[in-house]
Amino acid sequence: MPAYKRILLKLSGEALMGDDAYGINRDVIVRMVREVREVTEMGVEVAVVIGGGNIFRGVAGGAKGMDRATADYMGMLATVMNSLALADTMRLEGMTARVMSAINIEQVVEPYVRPKALQYLEEGKVVVFAAGTGNPFFTTDTAAALRGAEIGAEIVLKATKVDGVYTADPKKDPSATRYASVSFDEAIARNLQVMDATAFALCRDQKLPVKVFSIFKPGALKRVALGEDEGTLVHV
Ligand code: UDP
Repeated sequence: MPAYKRILLKLSGEALMGDDAYGINRDVIVRMVREVREVTEMGVEVAVVIGGGNIFRGVAGGAKGMDRATADYMGMLATVMNSLALADTMRLEGMTARVMSAINIEQVVEPYVRPKALQYLEEGKVVVFAAGTGNPFFTTDTAAALRGAEIGAEIVLKATKVDGVYTADPKKDPSATRYASVSFDEAIARNLQVMDATAFALCRDQKLPVKVFSIFKPGALKRVALGEDEGTLVHV
């Protein structure tokens, strides 16, 4: 039995590159989608927010002298491309997905309308939320927290390259251990990097738990959906 009825899955854009230097790696996106499919087949309603770091990141543009807001809009458009690629890969894998954008580009994707998103989820369709929050100076982590709260997801699943939150960087410190669970307060006190500060504050205020896990560990997403000891649970 799945532990959740409805989840918000945050996929990083950067993860889509795989070992490539840029863009979307076909094998990686197919692998990711198959992990998601396993969870939808269990009857879990899945909403997805995907980043855009594999194509463009606002902070990087800003650092090169670009107007930050303009760079952020480019970043949001990058998430639209990733969302389209994700939904199309889902279609190829036999799933039904709908992309909804926080920025109006109606010839490309339908705009985000909350009741419609809820309807799609109830119908068992995967909803991919594109264009982040629609506002510059935010991140897709914040979009995940925001949409997660809006659709009444029971948890935000933050997929990363590492399989949880560790006491230290496991690549640098072999004695580092993974937290099975940690409270929001403890995460702040220990200065643990879970998600950016705005997203973190929103989840904490809304009492929306977050699970950090690896999307590249086969079956990990399914184990998370089953409520098993996988990744790190950040709780109230
Ligand atoms: N972005 C934004 N507002 C949002 C979400 C995203 O301005 O609500 C921009 C921002 O420039 C960000 C880029 O889109 O750098 C890509 O998103 P993010 O960096 O979160 O992607 P990820 O790190 O997950 O690949």
